Amino acid sequence: MIKRLKNFYALTSHDIGIDLGTANTIVYVRGKGIVLNEPSVVAVNQKTGRVVAVGSQAKQMLGRTPAHIIAIRPLVDGVISDFEVTEEMITYLVNQAQKDSKKMFGPRVVVGVPSGITNVEIRAVRDATKNAGAREVHIVEEPMAAAIGMRLPVMEPVGNMIIDIGGGTSDIAVISLGGVVSSKNLRVAGDKLNTDIISYIRSEFKILIGEKTAEDIKIAIGAVVPTEASLEAVIKGRDLITGLPREVVVTDSDVREAISQSIDTLIESTKEVLEATPPEIMSDIMHRGVYLAGGGALIKGLGPILEEYIKIPVHVADDPLTAVARGTGIILEDMETFKEVLIANEDDLPSKK
Ligand code: ADP
Ligand code: MG
Repeated sequence: MIKRLKNFYALTSHDIGIDLGTANTIVYVRGKGIVLNEPSVVAVNQKTGRVVAVGSQAKQMLGRTPAHIIAIRPLVDGVISDFEVTEEMITYLVNQAQKDSKKMFGPRVVVGVPSGITNVEIRAVRDATKNAGAREVHIVEEPMAAAIGMRLPVMEPVGNMIIDIGGGTSDIAVISLGGVVSSKNLRVAGDKLNTDIISYIRSEFKILIGEKTAEDIKIAIGAVVPTEASLEAVIKGRDLITGLPREVVVTDSDVREAISQSIDTLIESTKEVLEATPPEIMSDIMHRGVYLAGGGALIKGLGPILEEYIKIPVHVADDPLTAVARGTGIILEDMETFKEVLIANEDDLPSKK
C-alpha cells in the first residue's frame, strides 16, 4: 500500500496555486514557491483566432499591434470578458508551471479569482483549469487568499479586515471564521488612477500621454500625502493643439490632485464596509488593524491617510503584490484546515451568501 502511494506521488505533478489577477497573474508551485509572474495580457490574431503571445510578451504589444492582432486583458474590471482567451491563458500558465516536471497525474490547482466574479465565470475558470490537465480544481476568492497569504487568523472567531487594491478592482472584505462577513468590490484601483492621471495631464498641460506613461508616473512620484521633498518627473506626450511631441515636468502634487477623487472613493467605501460590520467584529478590527494588499497598497502615504480617516491602525502587507499567490500556496499545504474557504461549487460563492 505504502509503495503504491509512493508510486502515485512520484507520478503526480506538483500542486499549483494561481492568482488570476486583473493586472498580474502569479503562479506558485508547491515545493518551489513563485515560479511565474506575468501581466494578465493575451495577444490574439483575429484572422486565425490563435493566441500569439501571453504575459509580458503580449503586454509589450498593448497599443502597438497591427489591425489584425489584438492584445486583451481578459480579466480587466474583475470580469472574464473573453472565456476562450482566459482558457488559453490558464493552459499556458499550467503548462509553464510544470514544464520541467510533467507527470502522469495532473496537479491539484487552487485558483484565486476576483471577488466580483459571477458563477458562470467561476465555472469557466474551473473548466479551463481542468482542460489544462488539472486533477482537482479549487477556487478561492482573492481577498480571502490575500488574508491567508498575510497569515491573518481567518479561520478563528476574530474579525480581520483586508483591502486588496489591484489593477481593475479593489476588494474590501471583513473575514471571520473562514467566511466573508461584509465586503465591497469596486472598480476604483490601479487602472483608474492611471486614467485619472491621463485626464489631469490632458486638461492641465494640454498633452496626451499613454497608459504606460501614466502608470510609470504613478509608481515613480505618486504620493497620497505630500513627501518631504517635492518629486518630479519629465514626461513626453503629444501636444493636443500642434499634434507634435512635447515635454512637461509633472510633480507629486499634480499626481495627488489627479488621483484625489479616487482615493476619496476608496476611503468612503472602506467606511461603508466598516459601518456594515457587527460590533464585536468591529472591535476586533479596531484592535488588530486593517491590512492592505495588492499593488495599489504601494502608493506612498496611503496607509497613513486611511488611518487618519478611519481612526484604525493600517498595516501594509510585506510584498503586497504576491499576497494572493502566497495564500494559494498556504492553502495547498493544508487543504484540510482551509477547506471551508474554497468555493465547492458555483452556487456556493461565499460573498453571495
Ligand atoms: P491584480 O491583482 O488586479 O492583478 P495587482 O495586485 O497585481 O493587481 O496590482 C497591480 C496594480 O498595482 C497596477 O495598477 C499597478 O500600477 C499598481 N502598482 C504596482 N506597484 C505600484 C507602486 N509601487 N505604486 C503604486 N501602484 C503600484
Ligand atoms: Mg489581485
